[in-house]
Amino acid sequence: MSAADIKELHWLFDILQHIDVGMVVIDRKYRIKVWNSFMENHSGMVPEKVIGKSLLELFPEIQVDWFKAKVESAALLNNRTFTIWEQRPYLIRFNTYQPITGIEDHMFQNITIIPLVSATGDVEDIAIIIYDVTDVASNKRQLQAANLNLQALSRTDRLTQLNNRGFWEEMLNKEFARFKRYGGVSSLIMFDIDHFKKVNDTYGHQAGDKVIQTVAQTLRNNLRSTDIGGRYGGEEFGVILPDTNTDGAKIFAERLRTTVENLPVQHEDKEIRFTISLGISELDTGCPNAKHWIEQSDKALYESKHAGRNRSTVFIGND
Ligand code: GH3
Ligand code: MG
Ligand code: MG
Repeated sequence: MSAADIKELHWLFDILQHIDVGMVVIDRKYRIKVWNSFMENHSGMVPEKVIGKSLLELFPEIQVDWFKAKVESAALLNNRTFTIWEQRPYLIRFNTYQPITGIEDHMFQNITIIPLVSATGDVEDIAIIIYDVTDVASNKRQLQAANLNLQALSRTDRLTQLNNRGFWEEMLNKEFARFKRYGGVSSLIMFDIDHFKKVNDTYGHQAGDKVIQTVAQTLRNNLRSTDIGGRYGGEEFGVILPDTNTDGAKIFAERLRTTVENLPVQHEDKEIRFTISLGISELDTGCPNAKHWIEQSDKALYESKHAGRNRSTVFIGND
């Protein structure tokens, strides 16, 4: 760059010096030529200290491969490029000066890389503009976190922290659709606490709640990561067992049943004992929809109740 060009640029840099945006100019060897007050304030390094030094060496947090690719393509194509904080949170790690309520400990940055063309038409220098977008990023991230939280809340049953009926049914519909499309095996267990009204009547509603929570916890302890348990109604539960045939589901059901049977709930100075009845049905191609699948398991559950409770029954189709 000629002296005149640089002089020409100086008035511009005077302005840029005082705007709230980072401005760095580097040469093609990544040596710093311009370092404005924003950069000085946030890095704590005065221009005299950094001019002539390699940007990459001064700031080892810069992802060299990525940054070089960006700079080199901007120089080659003589075209500016942008990077937003969602692609890469920052180029240089600066602390934020958010109030104590702020949740971010570093500045989020949008970056613009601008090739600077000399009088001869060559790209000799590169300007890097750094925008502090911490407020925007922080708001967006907090909103996303809040939305995730709300989503989890809207899917979760308050008493048991299991999936609630609405979400669990959504999962059941998905599993049904998956089976229709890809086949394989899948089983569904519905179960219900036996004589639960008596628990409420004898020990009170709070004791009843504790029993429901204990059953939910026992269920959770027995689930594999791909199994999906949910609270279907008051003291009724559903378990989707993907990739599980009748035999596997029966083993699961019996393990759950015997665990519950041997698990007294302590309430005040009393020990409450209780049992569950279960109905199992393996999905077959004749089943028209997920609702029908539930009805099959319900029928088997009803048989368990009818046969004396504290047992599991497998649904046998009509065919
Ligand atoms: P069965 O063996 O035939 O299942 O008899 P049961 O007494 O368990 O009969 P049923 O399944 O119909 O009983 C449901 C009872 O569960 C009725 C209702 O008062 C009670 N219940 C439903 N939701 C809750 C709850 O969240 N907490 C408590 N404590 N009780 C509930
Ligand atoms: Mg019951
Ligand atoms: Mg019931």
